[in-house]
Amino acid sequence: MGKYIVGIDLGGTSAKMAIASPDGQLKYKWTIGTEIHQEGQLIVPAIIQSIKRSLAEHDLTDQDIIGIGMGTPGAVDVKAKTVIGAYNLNWKTTQDLGQQFGQAFDIPFFVDNDANVAALGEQWLGAGNGAENVVMVTLGTGIGGGVVINGQLYRGSGAAGEIGHMTIEDHTDIHCTCGKKGCFEALASANGIVRLAKEMVDQDEGNIDHSEFYEKVVQDQTFTSFDIFEAAKAIDGFASQVVDKVAYYIGLGVSHIANILNPSAIVLGGGMAGAGEFLREKVDAYYREFTYQQIRETTQIVLAQLGNDAGVIGAVNLINTEIK
Ligand SMILES: [Zn+2]
Repeated sequence: MGKYIVGIDLGGTSAKMAIASPDGQLKYKWTIGTEIHQEGQLIVPAIIQSIKRSLAEHDLTDQDIIGIGMGTPGAVDVKAKTVIGAYNLNWKTTQDLGQQFGQAFDIPFFVDNDANVAALGEQWLGAGNGAENVVMVTLGTGIGGGVVINGQLYRGSGAAGEIGHMTIEDHTDIHCTCGKKGCFEALASANGIVRLAKEMVDQDEGNIDHSEFYEKVVQDQTFTSFDIFEAAKAIDGFASQVVDKVAYYIGLGVSHIANILNPSAIVLGGGMAGAGEFLREKVDAYYREFTYQQIRETTQIVLAQLGNDAGVIGAVNLINTEIK
């Protein structure tokens, strides 16, 4: 009978791995770089090698491991254990992860997309506090989501939790990578807020604060979401207007989730949630406007707690939820 679980959090620059106890204590934790050349064909063999080496180092065999769980970018077919469209890994064709891990180990293997897996991490040992019903919203370069209901990922017909493509604004020319206009992720992700700032300048009807940051945008200087939040924290007028608009969009987005699912927590994670309480409280104010009393009293908007470990801890929990 196995006593440990292996968790893998695969990303565009590195793969984080851990050997953990089933209650989520990370006994051994390590990271390897992600080599995306040769169409990403070196990535999975390197991960497999690295796990084999680590198991051997700690005198563990396949029989000691309950399961290997993995979170990956891209669209995952959970049943087939395949991934397609992970462009940041340079994977242009369908990758059969189930077959690769099946050949390498005599250990059950499960995979899901990184946003779903991070949600399982935060729900279990992070801001979700182990509650049964938790939704995570990952505010990164895009917006991802993961819906945990009754302690299990809710996958719908395969694309549940893809909240980044919820239409949040119908009066905009900002296009999304999916082909639609006005998607949540096109407006309120780290890339979205940069586009939003430029659009607000272009469509200025005299209500924009011509602050220092405004001048920077007008002069087409390059800036990031981080710069916008830093300027807003320093009380720059225009940057504050941009952050307020983004908080409105996020508040509106999470209100839809709360009104439908009424989870105990909606966890804000990802790089942009690094703006912390400064962003959360603004989002919460709009969220309260867009939800009725019973919802806002029972669904809290909270900040993620696990940081970079959410993915690897969630990958461990994926095994707990898949193998009973
Ligand atoms: Zn979209």
